[in-house]
Amino acid sequence: MLSFAATARQLGRTQLIRTATRRSYATETASKKPSNLPLYLMGAGVAGLGGYFYLNSTGKSVITQEKSPLDPENFKDFRLKKIIPYNHNTSEFIFELPNNEASLLPVASCIVVKASDPEALKDEKGKPIIRPYTPISPSEHKGELTLLIKKYDNGNASKHIHGLKEGDTLSIKGPIPKFPYKVNEFEEVALIGGGSGITPLYQIVTHALSNGSNRTKFTLLFSNVTEADILLKSDFEALKKKYPTKFDVVYVLDKPPAGWTGLSGYISKEVIQQHVAPASLNEKVKVFVCGPPGQVAALAGKKAGMKQGELGGILKELGYTEDQVYKF
Ligand SMILES: Cc1cc2nc3c(=O)[nH]c(=O)nc-3n(C[C@H](O)[C@H](O)[C@H](O)COP(=O)(O)OP(=O)(O)OC[C@H]3O[C@@H](n4cnc5c(N)ncnc54)[C@H](O)[C@@H]3O)c2cc1C
Repeated sequence: MLSFAATARQLGRTQLIRTATRRSYATETASKKPSNLPLYLMGAGVAGLGGYFYLNSTGKSVITQEKSPLDPENFKDFRLKKIIPYNHNTSEFIFELPNNEASLLPVASCIVVKASDPEALKDEKGKPIIRPYTPISPSEHKGELTLLIKKYDNGNASKHIHGLKEGDTLSIKGPIPKFPYKVNEFEEVALIGGGSGITPLYQIVTHALSNGSNRTKFTLLFSNVTEADILLKSDFEALKKKYPTKFDVVYVLDKPPAGWTGLSGYISKEVIQQHVAPASLNEKVKVFVCGPPGQVAALAGKKAGMKQGELGGILKELGYTEDQVYKF
């Protein structure tokens, strides 16, 4: 267990590193090449665009990277470059992408991982154990892919990954497309997350807010057991400061500390009624849910494997429709 001082130091370091790797904003030049119109268009895996390109000063597109170093059909080994402890049970795992390439993962999408050594992580039938993770590094970030992974003591993949050392490899396949996010498709987006289920929601909101033309208002309802379990909190606070009219976050703790000013208990019907735009907004509102299976079931009904499954739970009771809700 890390001491409080060590944890604080590491949180600070983590924050510095992520700041350095943060998304390029639409108004920033993300390339060293001079360009009067540094407009980056991400087309990897979306509508057959493929590749990563920008428009130069004459408005001509310049392709800087043809395709992702990841393969959606086959697992490839990637070297673990650095491990940065985040809190008592979660660390950042930074993998090296060859030739300083970017992952080009479309938003929203995830990757799946398995052990590089097939003997190291298999089920009782001898089949490889495969789990999905959503990188927290932006898809256009060059040379690295960062996973933020919580360790479950009785877990398989998370325990294996937490047992890796810098220099080891992990087998990764992707992207696995999830919800194809389009800028300004919705007026209001609610992100409801629990624990390490925050990463897909983080991917969407950081991507959306970094677009200078974004008009969508995001509200994150983020539940955890204790305050120390809240992942990416300093990132969310920074987003709230930077986009006060477009982003808000409400923390909900099961075991709040003395003097806690956020909400306590679980994400209830009342909490949703108070903080999430109503179902009556129809196609103008979207609710994304990601968390432990029990929480997803209580809020939106059980997922059916990789499929959405029927809508149920509190969101259904409140009148939201299947079109308005997406479960990761
Ligand atoms: C789209 C998607 C993206 C994900 N991204 C991330 C990510 O970025 N970082 C991350 O740490 N995890 C993420 N997860 C969860 C991850 O895929 C694994 O489920 C998790 O690491 C546990 O796997 P395991 O093999 O260690 O545990 P398992 O062997 O599968 O399970 C061990 C125990 O943990 C419980 N458990 C399993 N998953 C969860 C969970 N999510 N919450 C609470 N209890 C659980 C099980 O019920 C069981 O008791 C994501 C899941 C999805 C669907």
